This record gives sequence, C-alpha cells and structure tokens, in this order.
Amino acid sequence: MTELKVLCVLYPDPVDGYPTSYARDDIPRLAHYPGGQSLPSPSGTDFTPGALLGSVSGELGLQSFLESEGHALVVTSDKDGPDSEFERQLVDADVVISQPFWPAYLTAERIARAPKLKLALTAGIGSDHVDLDAAMQRNITVAEVTYSNSISVSEHVVMMILGLVRNYIPSHEWVVKEGWNIADCVERSYDLEGMAVGSVAAGRIGLAVLRRLKPFDVRLHYTDRHRLPQDLEHELNLTFHPDAASMVPECDVVTINAPLHPETEHLFDDAMFDRMRRGSYLVNTARGKICDRDAVVRALENGQLAGYAGDVWFPQPPPVEHPWRTMPHEGMTPHISGTSLSAQARYAAGVREILECWFADRPIRDEYLIVDRGRLAGTGAHSYSAGDTDS
Ligand code: NDP
Repeated sequence: MTELKVLCVLYPDPVDGYPTSYARDDIPRLAHYPGGQSLPSPSGTDFTPGALLGSVSGELGLQSFLESEGHALVVTSDKDGPDSEFERQLVDADVVISQPFWPAYLTAERIARAPKLKLALTAGIGSDHVDLDAAMQRNITVAEVTYSNSISVSEHVVMMILGLVRNYIPSHEWVVKEGWNIADCVERSYDLEGMAVGSVAAGRIGLAVLRRLKPFDVRLHYTDRHRLPQDLEHELNLTFHPDAASMVPECDVVTINAPLHPETEHLFDDAMFDRMRRGSYLVNTARGKICDRDAVVRALENGQLAGYAGDVWFPQPPPVEHPWRTMPHEGMTPHISGTSLSAQARYAAGVREILECWFADRPIRDEYLIVDRGRLAGTGAHSYSAGDTDS
C-alpha cells in the first residue's frame, strides 16, 4: 500500500505537562459492552490502558503502528481558522481523525480543499462535526467507535442530575470559601427520590442512564424514534411519549441523549422550555446545538429551569464570553464525559481496529459506520438523518 497521511487532531496536553504518573495503577478490564457487543479487537496496541491518549503527546497510541505500516502521522491541536495547522495539513491528508471533545470541524468547504481525503474517523461517538452530506457526495467513509464511551457519558449524566438537584457545586464552593453556610447550601437542595425523570432518546447512553436511575426510586419517562421492547419498558417501568414536547410537561428532570441532526437541532427552544414544569432540571451531554443557547439562559433567569448542566457546547472550545459560563444555576463542564482515561483506552483501540481494516481493505464493523459508499450506513443509517445542521 502507498504511504498514507493520517492527520490526527487531539486536545492539548495538560498545562503542567504530559503526566508521568497516574492516580490509579490500572483500569478495570471489561468482557464486553452491555447487550453483548464486543470491545475493540485490533491485532495489538502500543499503549498502556489508563494512560492519557487523547492529548497530543498521547497520539492515541498510533505513532509506532502507523510508522511500522509505512504511513505518516501528523498530530496537532491547532484546528480552527484558515491559518491553523489542521487547514495546512488537510490539503494532502488521506485520513482525518478527530475527537468530539476537541472537534476538527470538517465542513463542506474544508472537504472541498482535501481532495485525497477518504476516511474521517471519530475517536469517540458523534460525527456531527463532519458535514455528512458533503462526505456522502465525496464518497468519504465516516466511522466512529460506537459504544466506546456510552457508559462513561451515562455516569456523567447521573452525576450531573444529582449535582443539580442536590445543589452540590454551590455547596462545595462554600467549603472552598471557608464557610459553613448550611442554609445558603440547602435553599436550593432537594432529593431526587420521587421525581419524574425523562430521557430524550433511549439509545446506548439514554438507556444506560435510565437503568442507572431506576434504583433512585424515580418515575422514568422516555421518548425515541423507535420504541423499546415491551419487556424492557416493563422491567424499568418506563412511560413512553411520542416526542419530547409531550414528555417534558410530565418531568422534573430531563436528560438529552439524542444525536445532533436536523431533527434535533434547537429542539430545546423557548417554546419547549415553556412546556416544561417550572423549576425543571435539564442535563445535556449530547450536543450543545440541541439547545438554543440564549433560550437556556432565559429559562434559567426566569426560573422555568432550576438548573442546567452538560458538557457540550457550540463551538468547542467556546469563546470566553459564552453565556453558559456565567449563567445562574449551571453545572457545566468542558466536553469531558466521554474521554475519561477508561474511555480513551477503548476508543484508541477502536481507532486502531478501524485503521487496520482500512489498510487491509477489510470491512469496518457495521456498528462503527456512519457514512459509507456515498450514503448513511450502519449506525449512521439508524441514528442520523440526511441533511445538514448549521455550523
Ligand atoms: P445511539 O445511536 O445508541 O442512540 C441515539 C438514540 O437517539 C437512538 O435511539 C435514536 O433513535 C435516538 N434519536 C435520534 N433522533 C431522535 C429524535 N429526533 N428524537 C428522539 N430520539 C432520537 O447513540 P449513543 O447513545 O451512543 O449517543 C447519543 C449521542 O450522545 C451521540 O450522538 C453524541 O452526540 C452524544 N455523545 C456525547 C458524548 C460526550 O462525551 N458528551 C460521548 C458520546 C456520545 P433510533 O435509533 O430509535 O432511531
């Protein structure tokens, strides 16, 4: 095979340098994902599970593998604007790898400037940073590492729900400020028990969230394009709604777990917030643009929302003046839920598996495919819809 150029965009190393030791010595070994899907199975890996792989110096553990295959790897975190290293390197790149946490936006214009590009790979889940229509037209294969971080995200969702409802972050801040202000902490603190929690989508993440919340003795609701099997609805005591608009008036807490595509872009706007119960909590770890940025701020300011948390923004990274950094009652994090050290080991192995298939001209697993041969394929055909979201 001729030498290919693999262009990999990763987030910058920690400000105090690439780690030389870690908080824990290893990470648990999983047998398979829930439901039985097998973990990534490359022929080998050149990294220690639990190491920081998603930042530039971690290079997803790909360097020695690609060199041994006779290919070139370029890693950069400089991804935005016409003078970025990414734009410079893109012109002759054959493969682009990017993570949703630090997305290299592959717009139609950028795709037009990358005549050799044949494979756009997402190290993680969610390929909405790629213009899928443009990829289809140019016959670029788009793939992601399905399931690699679904449980990671679901844990983050549960954490954020509890954090908002129990008023964790403001209470923690009183400790740091050397206070003992019990009343200030609890004037917005409730129990989750007995509340109604609804998930927009019950795919891998949404269902994992519902399963994890069941022992909290909450009333569980969901909406999805396809209804779950009846025995599962029965097991989790789920109430199904045909759409988000009919679900939210029944809920105290809503969690968004659907992909960003034309059907879901700005689904949560002023009209949707007006349908919610006063004092609802909203957790969005799916994609920032599923919520209307300014409508979220208005809903927090007028009390329609009691709290908003999530780890997804637009654009990423957001500008310093992005209002979600300073709005009241927020529990935001940067986009981290799917890039725990545990998740990185899985998606780095998945990226290697996909590249091994690509180089050997073997089929990529169907569950990893989003676009193939000019159309939505595999997981993409199931979860996305054709058409573009504005970027
Ligand atoms: P899945 O494909 O397993 O599930 C997505 C679900 O969303 C599917 O059940 C799909 O329905 C449903 N869906 C699609 N459109 C709609 C709609 N209009 N209304 C209701 N439901 C809809 O994906 P995951 O659960 O693994 O991931 C979901 C999303 O979470 C990703 O697309 C990504 O954007 C985000 N994510 C965020 C991460 C983070 O770090 N914060 C990491 C990983 C993912 P059906 O299949 O029934 O048609």
